[in-house]
Amino acid sequence: MSLAIANQTATDSDGFGAACRCITAKMRKSQRFAIFLVHVRGIDRYCAVHGHADGAALLEEFQARLTELAQPSGVVARMGMRKFAVVLDNLRNAGHMRLAAQKIARMLDAIVGADEQSRLGAIIGATNGGDGASDAPELLRRVEIAVLDGRRKNASFNFYEPDTADEILLDWGLEKRLAQAIEDGALEIHFQPKLELATDRIVGAEALMRWSDPDIGPISPDVFIDLAETTGQITDLTHFAIQRSCRQVSAWKATLGSLNIAVNVTPSLIGNTEIVDAVRSASNIWDLEPDSLTLEVTENALMADREAAHRVLTAIRDFGARVSIDDFGTGYSSLSYLKKIPADELKIDRTFVMGMLADRGDYKIVEHTIGIAKSFGLSVVAEGVETSDMLVELQRLGCDYAQGYFICRPVGADAFEEFCRKRG
Ligand code: C2E
Ligand code: CA
Ligand code: CA
Repeated sequence: MSLAIANQTATDSDGFGAACRCITAKMRKSQRFAIFLVHVRGIDRYCAVHGHADGAALLEEFQARLTELAQPSGVVARMGMRKFAVVLDNLRNAGHMRLAAQKIARMLDAIVGADEQSRLGAIIGATNGGDGASDAPELLRRVEIAVLDGRRKNASFNFYEPDTADEILLDWGLEKRLAQAIEDGALEIHFQPKLELATDRIVGAEALMRWSDPDIGPISPDVFIDLAETTGQITDLTHFAIQRSCRQVSAWKATLGSLNIAVNVTPSLIGNTEIVDAVRSASNIWDLEPDSLTLEVTENALMADREAAHRVLTAIRDFGARVSIDDFGTGYSSLSYLKKIPADELKIDRTFVMGMLADRGDYKIVEHTIGIAKSFGLSVVAEGVETSDMLVELQRLGCDYAQGYFICRPVGADAFEEFCRKRG
């Protein structure tokens, strides 16, 4: 390759080739260099708000500044809509590489307006030019892995580490399968009935996602929700769960009467008002009363960014939907904070409920949580109710609702309907 492009910016279509040529030339000359892959986060959202022309202009400006940084002998290659490979010379050690990454992140910040800074950002993966890589494509593969690993760790800068590569590739396979499942509509929602203890009636259900891969078989939601969280697929999954649940509850109006459906929302989505729009739009589309929908958020979600969580949950409740604090007792929220939580319900974590008759400590936690809920005017749900003795004791303690295998396991929509019919 000619070094003619080395101090220029490569265009979209030949980004990969240009980066390879430049890297190969440097490898041949045994030059010292570092490669960064800059993945711009949040650009889809930016385009949705400001339009594609503004989004494209922003990325072009960023590319121009990266090119300046790479002067005189580095290269910048665009590797796709939101990714740039940057090859820089003369970075002597990891500290220098980290400084360069910080500089790149600040360059992006400087282009974006202050109100967008928290929404747009970069994940930068890096590796050294040497490090025993056989060729240029291998080095570019390593920085891709560094970016994916950074995303998993929630780190904005990440060095390539051979040990994590295998893990990432495994996740990568699963990530692709999950993306396919989302696209094919292969995910399902199961419903677990929620029993009102005062009336002995089923008043609603928790929506729990199910995924069975054709080759692997059923994959636990703990695994794929966690994966979706690190890959950015969680928003799609959650919106799907909300839409499907609302559609189902709307259909059940005719057969079972009105029910409340509780959908789980992971902490990362509670910092952003997008979830409020999703709730509003699903309720409208399926013509539901706003209080037919409950969002379950874990106690820890509230602790991560209190102000943002407060804003978002308040907006949910202002709309008329309900908020339930899931896995209550496993986090660290203080009583003084609890006083201010915009919530309607506490949900006692199943580990305490399951242990309440065998373990004095668990019993006390269940008892106190019910007391706390009452004193703050919240309703309280016990999940993980596996025996009739537990149910009787919860009733005695004044618990409002119960959920668990003793009542019914999570089941498909038809089985849920049948269960409710039989129960009368
Ligand atoms: P979770 O929100 O605490 O959900 C309750 C879990 O307890 C479910 O596990 C349910 O099947 C299980 N369970 C219910 N009753 C009993 C019982 O009597 N005994 C025992 N041992 N377990 C019981 P599942 O379905 O495997 O879900 C695990 C977690 O995955 C959920 O915990 C939730 O955090 C997450 N999850 C599931 N679906 C979704 C979803 O649509 N969106 C999000 N964000 N997370 C989801
Ligand atoms: Ca839950
Ligand atoms: Ca729970």
